[in-house]
Amino acid sequence: MIVGGYTLDLYCDRTERHVILENNTYYFKPDTSQWIPLGNQFLGETYTECVKQAKKEGWLVYRSIDKCLCKYCKGK
Ligand SMILES: [Zn+2]
Repeated sequence: MIVGGYTLDLYCDRTERHVILENNTYYFKPDTSQWIPLGNQFLGETYTECVKQAKKEGWLVYRSIDKCLCKYCKGK
């Protein structure tokens, strides 16, 4: 049996709004002063599949410039 797969870890580039603890990222929500955990690890057969999942969760991924934004930071 061959198990393939790809793991994609995303760390939002608006770092001033996030903290990373034990490989999980948290977003600081100013209006409620709460740290919200973000799902930032995506599994798939290929890179493309991982990105597709990430986008479904609301991430913006710019592979060519090696940047990404979480659903809370995109469009701001
Ligand atoms: Zn963010």
